[in-house]
Amino acid sequence: MSKLSLDRILQSQGFGTRKYCRALIEDGEVSIAGEVHDNYKETLETDGLVLSVFDEEWVVREHVYLALYKPANYECSRKPSHHPGVLTLLPEQFTWRDVQPVGRLDHDTTGLLLMSDDGPFIHAQSSPKRHVPKVYQATTAEPVTPELVAQLLSGVQLHDEPAPLAALVCEQKGEHLLEIVLEQGKYHQVKRMLAAAGNHCSALHRSAIGGLELASLGLQEGEWCYLNEEQLALLA
Ligand code: URA
Repeated sequence: MSKLSLDRILQSQGFGTRKYCRALIEDGEVSIAGEVHDNYKETLETDGLVLSVFDEEWVVREHVYLALYKPANYECSRKPSHHPGVLTLLPEQFTWRDVQPVGRLDHDTTGLLLMSDDGPFIHAQSSPKRHVPKVYQATTAEPVTPELVAQLLSGVQLHDEPAPLAALVCEQKGEHLLEIVLEQGKYHQVKRMLAAAGNHCSALHRSAIGGLELASLGLQEGEWCYLNEEQLALLA
């Protein structure tokens, strides 16, 4: 970013329409380093700028990269139909910034979900050519057997796939619990692979994407955080 007028800065950060942002500024709701700035035409260097809006601090960012601990019963779809959308778990500014989930988790899947307003980043992360491993814990309806593990490791045929899909890693973690690492991100992949191998996935959790582990982020279900450069590098 560079120098922009204060109303444009607020708008770029998702505080609403230009008209609304101007009103916020003129009403004295915006301060910088403890001083009210009520002239919306004032131009400011955006790099490193921290705004206080309604007494809450916001670092001005060109794009946002977020991690959400997705709870069950939230949809990743842009137009959720049966459950609230994951965007409802974020501050409203992010909706105005057009933040979107990076890939999808099913409504009943919990765990690590990336979100961003950076189109090329979303595109690159969701590309089928990317082979970033994703780690899942799958609870199974039927007990886990060595044959099930062997089948998931050697590959199972899904009806709409040209070739069998195999887990990169598959380890039994409990009588009804598997840890599965997948390189692809096909639709309902874990559930369909388990079904194709003769079991049923009754609960699913994503604990890591690449080297980024949900547990390292200190989030509770439904909470989100910004990702810094080092954390983003773990997704490569
Ligand atoms: N595989 C699934 O079946 N569902 C998810 O939400 C993610 C991976």
